Amino acid sequence: MNSAEIHQSFPNIITRLKWYLFNEFQSFEGMGIKKDWLSLGFGVDLGDGEKVKFWTDVWVEGYALSNKFSRLFLLATDQNCSVKDMGSWSKDCWQWKFSWKRPLRSWEEDVERELVKMLKLRAPSQNKEDRWQWHLETLGTYTTKSAYSWILKGEPKPATDFIRVWKASIPPKVSAFCWQLLHKKLPTKDNLSIRGICNANSNLNCCWCDSSIETPNHIFAQCNVAFRLWMKCYKWWGVQYVLDNSCSMLFEQHKWLGGPKLLDRGWNIIWFAVLWTLWLGRNEKIFQMKETKLDRFFELVQIRSFFWVTNIQGMEGFSLSDWCENPTKCLKNNPVRKDSA
Ligand SMILES: [Zn+2]
Repeated sequence: MNSAEIHQSFPNIITRLKWYLFNEFQSFEGMGIKKDWLSLGFGVDLGDGEKVKFWTDVWVEGYALSNKFSRLFLLATDQNCSVKDMGSWSKDCWQWKFSWKRPLRSWEEDVERELVKMLKLRAPSQNKEDRWQWHLETLGTYTTKSAYSWILKGEPKPATDFIRVWKASIPPKVSAFCWQLLHKKLPTKDNLSIRGICNANSNLNCCWCDSSIETPNHIFAQCNVAFRLWMKCYKWWGVQYVLDNSCSMLFEQHKWLGGPKLLDRGWNIIWFAVLWTLWLGRNEKIFQMKETKLDRFFELVQIRSFFWVTNIQGMEGFSLSDWCENPTKCLKNNPVRKDSA
């Protein structure tokens, strides 16, 4: 069911939604929030599955399968089919049947198995009609208040992130890159695929490990290359953390270190330096076939963060080798600001 169909089924909703909500929503879209949020807010009490779109309606676990299984959605022969069209009854037992544009690759078969596992508990019913309900209220009735608060908390604190990115002492092009990342606009392979820029036969895997789809969280946190680089940085700064597997949580982790404020600012810069270094390395690998070794990545993080701390943040009184040896000591020893010297 799309927004237009929802409007037909629930005409009173439109009168309750004020225009300002729609207008305000235009600015949310720039933050990466789904445009068709109204249809995403409605869940389905699944009946025979005739009126429910298998891929794009929210009828299982609170999200559309086209989002959770974007690769399979891309390969589906019919992206608009209903739940009822996706299987058949055999002796009172529902059996799912999928149809793909081409045979699945082995890793795609794993994803298909995950989908089947999830669908095991969500078979259609034979003698019951599909019913729509607003899944943000217990009674299933739509309220403006619940819709508004859902939209506002839909993405991880965009306003706060935005300020922190633009206030950081980093080059403008790095700020722009991080802004894209935090707003899910970075042209990683998964994003290009969702936008239809990659076709069904494109290799969407990570250029380093070739075993997972290239998502921002994968290349900047979960991939072994990223993991080892973060571990080296933690060791360099003398901190012990369990590495988070999402970019935004890592961003939070780099908010403060404790101690003097300058220490926090330096620590904050490391997040930008690691991500920017990995992104440039990823681009060189994909577009120039250039392989960068982990030690070189680490060296680049140290050099970049040193120049940003000294040239942009304006700290003086320590050298690159001091910085590489002990960054916290450099910042704790009250470095002089160029503009106050
Ligand atoms: Zn990888």
